[in-house]
Amino acid sequence: KSDCSVFVADEAAMVMFGQQIAHATSGGEVIFLNGDLGMGKTTLSRGVLKGFGHQGSVKSPTYTLVEPYELGEVTVFHFDLYRLGDPEELEYLGIRDYFTDQSICLIEWPERGEGVLPPADLLLNITVEQRGRRINWQAQTEKGRQLADKLII
Ligand code: ADP
Ligand code: MG
Repeated sequence: KSDCSVFVADEAAMVMFGQQIAHATSGGEVIFLNGDLGMGKTTLSRGVLKGFGHQGSVKSPTYTLVEPYELGEVTVFHFDLYRLGDPEELEYLGIRDYFTDQSICLIEWPERGEGVLPPADLLLNITVEQRGRRINWQAQTEKGRQLADKLII
């Protein structure tokens, strides 16, 4: 299922879905997290990091734009581009070096980096549904399809 959706009832379920995403990766994925403020993008990212064995807290890299997490074989880069003024600023961060076969890139507010970010393997969009959230996802590449095929819903 490369184009799919799931209802996520609460924060704990959001973290679990993030863990599932972590377990479905093979390395090198670029994942765009779309959705308004408060939709749960950082919560989902926390789940992905937990899935890779991260124990500590996860802060929103709103001011630093990106936070790296070295977790065994992989490095997860968690981006929050909400405060990015101009996509060109990403060039100064040297972001091209972040997108390797050993890294997983989770990107909140990817539209702010349009033109400079590489294309996403997987697009996720989070919206409110009842008291929880609905996550829609879409694979954009073969790598993204392989990831999406492993998501159990
Ligand atoms: P964002 O990064 O998209 O701005 P956050 O991850 O900071 O959003 O989450 C905002 C709020 O939404 C938090 O209080 C979190 O507990 C809550 N939340 C996350 N996922 C869900 C969910 N599936 N259902 C209900 N509330 C959720
Ligand atoms: Mg956030």
